[in-house]
Amino acid sequence: MDKTLIVTNDFPPRPGGIQAFVHSMACRLDPGQVVVYASTWKGGQDGDGTEVAVFDAEQPFPVVRDRTTMLLPTPRVTRQAAGLLREHGCTSVWFGAAAPLGLMAPALRRAGARRLVGTTHGHEAAWAQLPASRRLLRRIGEGTDTITYLGEYTRSRIADALTPAAAARMVQLPPGVDEKTFHPGSGGDAVRARLGLAGRPVVVCVSRLVPRKGQDTLILAMPRILAAVPDAVLLVVGGGPYAGELRKLAARTGVAEAVRFTGPLPWEELPAHYGAGDVFAMPCRTRRGGLDVEGLGIVYLEASATGLPVVAGDSGGAPDAVLDGETGWVVRGGSPEQAADRIVILLGDPELRRRMGERGRRWVEEAWRWDILAERLKSLL
Ligand code: GDP
Repeated sequence: MDKTLIVTNDFPPRPGGIQAFVHSMACRLDPGQVVVYASTWKGGQDGDGTEVAVFDAEQPFPVVRDRTTMLLPTPRVTRQAAGLLREHGCTSVWFGAAAPLGLMAPALRRAGARRLVGTTHGHEAAWAQLPASRRLLRRIGEGTDTITYLGEYTRSRIADALTPAAAARMVQLPPGVDEKTFHPGSGGDAVRARLGLAGRPVVVCVSRLVPRKGQDTLILAMPRILAAVPDAVLLVVGGGPYAGELRKLAARTGVAEAVRFTGPLPWEELPAHYGAGDVFAMPCRTRRGGLDVEGLGIVYLEASATGLPVVAGDSGGAPDAVLDGETGWVVRGGSPEQAADRIVILLGDPELRRRMGERGRRWVEEAWRWDILAERLKSLL
């Protein structure tokens, strides 16, 4: 790997999935070979930038913050990035999100970059659907050496907007799963005991509470599940704007006794809550004509790493995180019947749960470990 300038709008302490992805990767590159150029962030406790300064000082590589909260590929930002490239002797560039900052690629190449890599997430797949942003994506593909993608769903969407040559150069680079944090025996029994669920069959779902994720579908599936497995419980982990609606739905459906909401949890408590489940289920669905869609569904992989079988929805890239029939099943998103039928089969068959859970664990160890994925990025850089 050449010395690399990481250009990104998505960097902690600002919270979020892309931020965690870019930072986790950056931390696994050689610290002496990395410089980060990021936008600043006014969130946090005081909104005065203290949190950003403290975070940056703790990083093993230099982090240079722009004064703006959002970097755009303007002449000023491009000059700044080119200046950093030369000052630090970088010859590679990684755009933490390809769009729109990847538009700076040709200028950075002229400034001395030899390898330019742009990583795509869910939002670039949405860009690929609208004519103006589609043209920009095409330019980004032409200007960079490699565009990376999360999984087959986002690849096909994005490749469709690129030139055939740029599409052929695409490489998969999903976020990894920390197999040491998420593992079988992660403390689920203690969580069950605390919630008074010891001995009961538990279906767990971990996610933000928004309609797309399908917690509502699970609640609607509960009468059918309870008819077959009367003491089953649905454990809904996470917070979000849909929380109130979901509680009302559970009451209206007459299953409030069998649905537990934990609310949002601190990171340290997540592994044990996965571990509290016998089955992981999130039958997510696509909404708004395809604009509200799953990018990948990392929660299925966290569940697999914990040794749980998974029931996933067929929205966007969610199926990319499941080996259908091996680590779990993909069902039609929004179908309480399909979700219930798969969940009932799994709750009734400990041997099948064990087999799918073990296969999932192995798959994460083979294909989704951070160190494997960081090696892939290093070779691209
Ligand atoms: P996204 O929210 O649509 O990006 O869904 P993903 O499935 O890609 O990512 C969700 C991430 O947030 C996963 O790593 C989850 O484990 C995590 N997550 C979901 N709910 C909670 C929560 O209540 N607390 C914490 N700490 N993490 C959560």
